[in-house]
Amino acid sequence: MSIKKDKLVALFQEQLASWEQAGNNYKALENVVVKQVEVKGFPFKVQFNPARIVSSSAKVDTKSIQERRCFLCRENRPAVQKGIDFIYNGKEGDPYTVLINPFPIFPRHLTIPLLAHTDQLISGRMGAMLSLAKELDGYTLFYNGPKCGASAPDHFHFQAGNKGFLTIESQLPLMDKEVLYQKDNEVVSSVKGVFSGLFSITGKSAGQVEELFEKIFSVLPVKDGEKEPMVNILCWYQQDTYIVLVYVRDKHRPSHYFREGEQNILLSPASVDLGGVLITPLEKDFKKMDNMLIEEILDEISIDKEEDLQIIEKIKTILK
Ligand SMILES: [Zn+2]
Repeated sequence: MSIKKDKLVALFQEQLASWEQAGNNYKALENVVVKQVEVKGFPFKVQFNPARIVSSSAKVDTKSIQERRCFLCRENRPAVQKGIDFIYNGKEGDPYTVLINPFPIFPRHLTIPLLAHTDQLISGRMGAMLSLAKELDGYTLFYNGPKCGASAPDHFHFQAGNKGFLTIESQLPLMDKEVLYQKDNEVVSSVKGVFSGLFSITGKSAGQVEELFEKIFSVLPVKDGEKEPMVNILCWYQQDTYIVLVYVRDKHRPSHYFREGEQNILLSPASVDLGGVLITPLEKDFKKMDNMLIEEILDEISIDKEEDLQIIEKIKTILK
């Protein structure tokens, strides 16, 4: 089932007109302050976005999650929130619903939950992600792992934002890469530079890309008590090619997040931040963000060089 571009445009128009909170938040986004900070040659945008306080400070521990009503379940969504169904004809038969995100970072920001209340786990769902990336023309898809920024770790969902917003999209071709695997149109690389533990999978066959992803995912480290490796994933489709970026994470939130008083920085990094747009809901943090601080935060949440090298070797072996 295909989602026509005009259908999405119509959804945005209807929702922004009928849903006051969403309408106000998208309007506020037009005046959001942004600054650019270069870190090791990579251009980050820092966005001061007060409306995102809801998400950045979300309590995602098991107890808090169990005690709240899941905002992605259909029966708990605001009556005004409408969506477009998407049925992926792959391994899973459960429909997704394309919704507009009422707390936007992108000028066009979507949340795409599965209908069923099912844990946030990506394995077995890459096919759906690739399919959505192709269907949602003009959008970049992203997945935040349950401990990597998802504010609903108990309800499976993707998000998507309009292309041309995340700086990684235009930077990726310029970044140094070590090719770990190449066959026909499919390439797996370790992407060098500012992000440690960044891997790209590109290819023209969705099936091949999915298979490569599952193999790579199977060799990534899983922390004690976790159900899957800690990752953020970006995915987009351009010129008949699927592009998947996997960021392997070490920590959910940097130490700065837990510091007291002036030392505290309310930044909970997820796919969008690693895509090059750092979201600060508080003005004091927005002002503080400079290249040293960004580098420090990235170092804390990413895996270190040594672990990166170990994973590279494992990927080479499994894809041999
Ligand atoms: Zn739910």
